[in-house]
Amino acid sequence: MLKGRRAVVTGSTSGIGLGIARALAAQGAKVMLNGFGEVAAIEALKKEFPAYSPADISRPEQVRALIREATEKLGGIDILVNNAGIQHTAPIESFPPERWDAIIAINLSSNFHAIQAVLPQMRERNWGRIINIASTHGLVASPQKVAYIAAKHGVVGLTKVVALETATTGITCNAICPGWVLTPLVQKQVDARAAQQGVSIEQAKIDLLSEKQPSKQFTTPEQIGALAVFLCSEAAVNIRGAALPVDGGWTAQ
Ligand code: NAD
Repeated sequence: MLKGRRAVVTGSTSGIGLGIARALAAQGAKVMLNGFGEVAAIEALKKEFPAYSPADISRPEQVRALIREATEKLGGIDILVNNAGIQHTAPIESFPPERWDAIIAINLSSNFHAIQAVLPQMRERNWGRIINIASTHGLVASPQKVAYIAAKHGVVGLTKVVALETATTGITCNAICPGWVLTPLVQKQVDARAAQQGVSIEQAKIDLLSEKQPSKQFTTPEQIGALAVFLCSEAAVNIRGAALPVDGGWTAQ
């Protein structure tokens, strides 16, 4: 379905980004990976995805360089998935200001810089798909995540504006809002919870899910990848500016 399409997925060396990259590639898209990781892990991924950039997307000039490099290596960009993200948890009074800055830069501002850099070529071809990975935390809040939640609400707002500004074109912009997905980002929170409450890792996972996610099941990166593929299809051309929850009922409560 995506044969001939060219995609960039930020933060795709792990978790949800890698799931999306694999789902797009399985449909025939050429995908450029981005993100950090151990040398051996990156080398293994490069066998699967020859196009890879280590751009640090906390830096606006590196985001623009990533878009330039992908355009050169793939011959253009039809699909942009803004996925890279980090987390830090602490009450606001003790939230380190440098963690606030890093989360806003990586989880929010990078989306702005990448979209600004890629839109002109999408407009030229009158075709494009921009998918921003927000979160249930782009729709509702939880304590101790002030920077993450501010950034993700920002991503949902940015998505709506881009969708309106491209509404009469063949370019769509939407956000996916996952609930809990068991990736390294969430495993850290599970481990912290197990340590704090003196329970097993398995029990901490059950407790984490029970608190927020009525299905009591983690969403998988493959399921998020499948939704990204659908958003790239022609059937999805009139889904614009949406923030689509994939959250086991979290935001239905
Ligand atoms: P992850 O930690 O598994 O992956 C994050 C990826 O981002 C990695 O590839 C990492 O190398 C990359 N990255 C981090 N900082 C970077 C930087 N400065 N420059 C370039 N790449 C960078 O996390 P994940 O859970 O797969 O999260 C992916 C996205 O999904 C994030 O935006 C996250 O907020 C969002 N999300 C995750 C969940 C969840 O439950 N896991 C839920 C909702 C939303």
